[in-house]
Amino acid sequence: MDKLNLNDTIVAISTPIGEAGIGIVRLSGKNSLKIADKIFRPACKNNKSLKPSRFKSNTIHYGWIVDSLQKRNKKRRIIDEVLLTVMRAPSTYTREDIVEINCHSGIIPLKKILDLTLALGVRLAEPGEFTRRAFINGRIDLAQAESVIEIIRTKSENYYNACLDRLGGGFSREITNLSDKLLDFIAECEAQLDFPEEDTKKPLRELLYQIEQIKNSLSQCLKSTRQAKIMRDGISVAIAGRPNVGKSSLLNALINEDRSLVTPFAGTTRDTIEEQVCFDSVPLRLIDTAGLREAKHPIEREATRRSQNLIENAQLILLVFDASQPNNKEDNKFIDRFKREKNVVAVLNKTDLKLKIDQRIIKRSFGRYIKISALKRTGLDELKEAIVKHIWQGRLGQGNCQVILNVRQEKLIENALLKLTEAASSLKSWATLEIVVEDLKVALFSLNKISGRTCDIEEELLDSIFSQFCIGK
Ligand code: GDP
Repeated sequence: MDKLNLNDTIVAISTPIGEAGIGIVRLSGKNSLKIADKIFRPACKNNKSLKPSRFKSNTIHYGWIVDSLQKRNKKRRIIDEVLLTVMRAPSTYTREDIVEINCHSGIIPLKKILDLTLALGVRLAEPGEFTRRAFINGRIDLAQAESVIEIIRTKSENYYNACLDRLGGGFSREITNLSDKLLDFIAECEAQLDFPEEDTKKPLRELLYQIEQIKNSLSQCLKSTRQAKIMRDGISVAIAGRPNVGKSSLLNALINEDRSLVTPFAGTTRDTIEEQVCFDSVPLRLIDTAGLREAKHPIEREATRRSQNLIENAQLILLVFDASQPNNKEDNKFIDRFKREKNVVAVLNKTDLKLKIDQRIIKRSFGRYIKISALKRTGLDELKEAIVKHIWQGRLGQGNCQVILNVRQEKLIENALLKLTEAASSLKSWATLEIVVEDLKVALFSLNKISGRTCDIEEELLDSIFSQFCIGK
């Protein structure tokens, strides 16, 4: 991308194009008010002469957008009936003068207003340019800017809450806090280097403790992020088992619909079916796999191969047995294959019938099992509970994710952690303090890059961050 001229006045349609009640055309930059003067006619009779450049900041005005490019002697054509909002710098999203025009959200009025402003010399905004200006003009830091796009995109409420916190600067403050601690620590080490004769030396134990504290806080951010990713991306749950044990019936029961074809004939599920559900706020992708068995038909063979892949890649497996049958060779193959896996929940289905399966083998192999009847829809709450418990096992614990990092921030924190670990091991092995300080400085630089406030951020990085935004944000 050519270098952006951030002094231009920019314009964009900030709402999705399509039929809706209201569409918004947004202008930002030093000429926004002048442009608004040219195209806006207030409806208020007593104030016909009043121009947007004389409106108070943060006020909304009812009126009309008129085609000011038409010849003077002609009656100027009205383009749309609008509400116009004036927000003056510096207390605005971009810290520049902003004018927002709420018009009817049809493609014609939106496009006509946009074209009119472009014809008057305003430039079309690049994707994310409003937010980029908010960053460049110091209203928000880079971590906050990144949370804007994540708030727009996320479908998970927990993730949304964490991003909202990041937008509010909570995370940035935490990182700044850690950077400040690190900076003080570096200063202390450098003082020891510069004045080795002075009696300022801290014992090694104390130095290591300081590094450990910063490391713990950073590790906590990473842990919380991993938890958040589960909340955002969901967990893939494969429903596996030999044919006819009731896998499709279970999927239908869990999503409360008849999505997957249920028949008494083995091998009916020839393709995999995926459904999204949310149990206790955890989004899951439930995958009904074709029963794994020696298939003769090429289509069934292919379905079996795909199922195998899906089961291998699933984060959790619901291994279903038909409890009304004694376990057969095929069931035993499944037991052998999965009994050492941690991510398996054993499910005994068809418990509405007389139980003939050997429950002891299942218990011995999987620790516990959940009894259900997909047909009668019993035992499902217990199963859902077991699934959710399994997902959170060994993790931070369920609930709100305090911090959620994106890939860039995660990499920077990982790098800072690595350098802090290296610094700690250098200290332990009595390496010179210079080496330790070098590592600490790299760690500090990584932390500073998260907010982008106290260090130079390359133009390409900014381009790659803001190009993910939509035009108008
Ligand atoms: P899949 O091949 O493993 O997907 O099994 P299906 O879901 O297609 O079910 C196979 C047969 O078992 C169908 O006739 C279902 O109606 C029946 N079935 C499934 N779940 C139950 C259950 O809980 N109880 C009883 N009695 N029959 C069930």
